[in-house]
Amino acid sequence: MAYTVEVAGLTKSYGSTKVLRGVDLAIETGSVHGLLGANGAGKTTLVRILATLIGYDGGSARVAGHDVAREARAVRGQISLTGQYAAVDEMLTTRENLSMVARLRRLSRVESAARTDELIARFDLAAIADRRAGTYSGGQRRRLDLAMSMVVPPTLLFLDEPTTGLDPRSRDQVWATVRELAGTGVTVLLTTQYLEEADQLADRISVLDGGRIVAEGSPEELKTQVAGDVVRLTYGDAAGYEAALAAVRTPGVTADPVLLTVDVPTDSAPDSLRTLLDTLAAADASPRRVGMHAPSLDDVFLTLTAPTQEALR
Ligand code: ATP
Repeated sequence: MAYTVEVAGLTKSYGSTKVLRGVDLAIETGSVHGLLGANGAGKTTLVRILATLIGYDGGSARVAGHDVAREARAVRGQISLTGQYAAVDEMLTTRENLSMVARLRRLSRVESAARTDELIARFDLAAIADRRAGTYSGGQRRRLDLAMSMVVPPTLLFLDEPTTGLDPRSRDQVWATVRELAGTGVTVLLTTQYLEEADQLADRISVLDGGRIVAEGSPEELKTQVAGDVVRLTYGDAAGYEAALAAVRTPGVTADPVLLTVDVPTDSAPDSLRTLLDTLAAADASPRRVGMHAPSLDDVFLTLTAPTQEALR
């Protein structure tokens, strides 16, 4: 199997803050790989290292077979960054933005024009092709940004939160664009905090927490890792909610102090449910409502990166 990204034992500190503590990551060529992590988990740091923008302290990192530290130039020729690094010039139209990138990438005038037309069609930009980018909606701008990153298709495309702030329809359009782009053989590293986005787009997902990859697998594999269903206990008052948090000792419990809900992973066996309800009754923490749902990627994320029960209180 060929891998576009090969990272082993990668470490990086800022002063005394250890951000990456030994990250291992392998991304199969042609796949969309989701990198998930809470705010401050180190996603941007990892992306910046892979994109040769910053150095690292220990371990190794290779992109398209090149060492990111020793062969940075070769790596740069194989990658493209989008998202918060967007390079769209607001004074220029779609056509002008695309031609400018094409010319910068040393395509001839004829090649540039052909490539521009092709990308305008592929990324559904015809209706706005000759309007200045400054007037575009968020979704149109993202599609132009993606098109610009594909003028010369990179081996590895970094997509940073591609649909943040978009309405549902624009978001679906951008997702469709990313899927199409992935179908062309480009390897995509998607960093996102939106689990639904990772669920929709990623072939595999790595969860970064505490400076390490704490889980890796397809979205489905990760969901089954959170075995069984999730029991949601809903409380009518803070006292019951607090009592439940104190009583339930199951690992992976998550809670919402505003909605007064406590989510408890279970193995779905009737005995477990009975034991749980008995424990709650004994602790004077019987819920007002009990519901069950299949685990979502949100549950996976919250379970794997959950603060301790103490921290929730
Ligand atoms: P977010 O989802 O909020 O963008 P992230 O997972 O991308 O977060 P990073 O931006 O990689 O996280 O940051 C990881 C940690 O490193 C944070 O605690 C951050 O404050 C710290 N950090 C990042 N860049 C620097 C820097 N240049 N100097 C010092 N600390 C830094």
